[in-house]
Amino acid sequence: MDYDLVIIGAGVGGHGAAIHAVGCGLKTAIIEAADMGGTCVNRGCIPSKALLAASGRVRELHNTHHLKNLGIQLGQVSFDREQIANHADNIVTKLRGDLTNSLKRLGVDVIQGWGKIAGANKVTVETTNGEKTITAKDIILAPGSVPFVPPGITIDHQTVFTSDDAVKLASLPQWIAIIGSGYIGLEFSDIYTALGCEVTMIEALDQLMPTFDPDIAKLAQRVLINPRDIETKVGKLALKVTPGSPVIIELADTKTKEVEEVLEVDACLVATGRIPVSKNLGLESVNVEPIRGGFIPTNDHLEVLSGGEPVPHLWAIGDVTGKMMLAHTASAQGVAVVETICGRPRAVDYRSIPAAAFTHPEISYVGLNEPAAKELGQTEGFEIATVKTYFKGNSKAIAEGETEGMAKVIYRKDTGEILGVHIFGLHASDLIQEAANAMYHRQSVHDLVFSVHTHPTLSEVLDEAYKRAVFSVGGH
Ligand code: FAD
Repeated sequence: MDYDLVIIGAGVGGHGAAIHAVGCGLKTAIIEAADMGGTCVNRGCIPSKALLAASGRVRELHNTHHLKNLGIQLGQVSFDREQIANHADNIVTKLRGDLTNSLKRLGVDVIQGWGKIAGANKVTVETTNGEKTITAKDIILAPGSVPFVPPGITIDHQTVFTSDDAVKLASLPQWIAIIGSGYIGLEFSDIYTALGCEVTMIEALDQLMPTFDPDIAKLAQRVLINPRDIETKVGKLALKVTPGSPVIIELADTKTKEVEEVLEVDACLVATGRIPVSKNLGLESVNVEPIRGGFIPTNDHLEVLSGGEPVPHLWAIGDVTGKMMLAHTASAQGVAVVETICGRPRAVDYRSIPAAAFTHPEISYVGLNEPAAKELGQTEGFEIATVKTYFKGNSKAIAEGETEGMAKVIYRKDTGEILGVHIFGLHASDLIQEAANAMYHRQSVHDLVFSVHTHPTLSEVLDEAYKRAVFSVGGH
């Protein structure tokens, strides 16, 4: 065999697996058809967070009332779109370079080209110098995902585009429609409104932010949507979107599918989810049939399944497995697979994986939302309880002048086991980690109630929640 391990796809999943594999002494190669770093580094987490960093500051500096309360007065604030775009692009270039160098430095062979499985233990790569065949004891598929564009929507990359184009911030349209109110749609609404664009948000389901806990979605609507004058079209389906000047959007009622309204806007961002990359991967050579619209079927150990049985030494990780399509899920899966290959079987605990929307303020959660927890309780025969605490009662939030926020803890009434934690507010994406660790260790509010939190910190919103749950008293 040429290698112990060959990985197809150098996104966060493939990269994390490769680094861990060489650390474990496996001779490893990674195959990438496009830019090293995949979606997260080039078109996802990193550029979007760089844009949010800049646009968030613009929003803050325009909030003269808040600054005045802190004793700060500013002259006129202005920004340069091109420079914000360059800031994001420079970070992407730097991280992509760092990532490639770290792989090479650690001894991973990086092969540029399109990789395909060609039977057990064999991969072919279409490189610029022709086809190359590589053999490996184990193969990990980490080909990721691409934006889903519903039928009827035409992308021209200038007036109608997906997040792949939006992260380049090539223009700031006066009026932009965002289709989809998931975390990508929300983050871009945060960016565009901070930079002075008018936003209309279109959601096909009957609630904005349908994946969030209803209390959090309600609060987010009150803070992130209403005061920013974001027009919302809920329960409406964009049946047809035609690029141009203006962009024409035919909106129908989701249930009847009858066109009710035609919008004319300057641009349209299509943020309607992502689909796996599983075509042209050679899956047929090992009799693997993608499921649920293209995801690669896997078991708990991420072995690829053919007719329900594992294909020996073939693994899949990341977005293509369809399990919480997030960067940290992909890298956790990569590490788990390498551990299993090395004879220390591991499975990822999806239940304790946190997620965040990096809006201003942020939204984060881990575990179940209230309706899902109730449903679980009904199936398994237990009752749930919830406790909510508010940033307006937290000393640090008050000192920062950032009191808009809430933490909600959902737990089993009988045992106190934490089932879900949801936070809306300043630094929610960092605050959630404590709850994720607690859920990983299956801890209850009783386990956590005596853990001491630094004062004054935002983390005390969780401390207060545990105290209220156990002693029915508030911390402040
Ligand atoms: P990818 O990152 O998609 O990488 C797959 C790689 O495989 C690609 O580079 C592709 O070119 C390559 N490839 C595919 N097929 C082949 C082949 N046959 N041969 C060779 N190479 C191939 N997640 C978070 O956790 N936090 C965030 O803040 C966040 N923000 C996001 C913002 C946006 C706008 C988007 C779009 C996504 C965001 N995500 C975020 C999601 C995150 O980017 C993905 O979950 C993550 O990148 C998935 O990693 P992956 O390794 O599975 O695949």
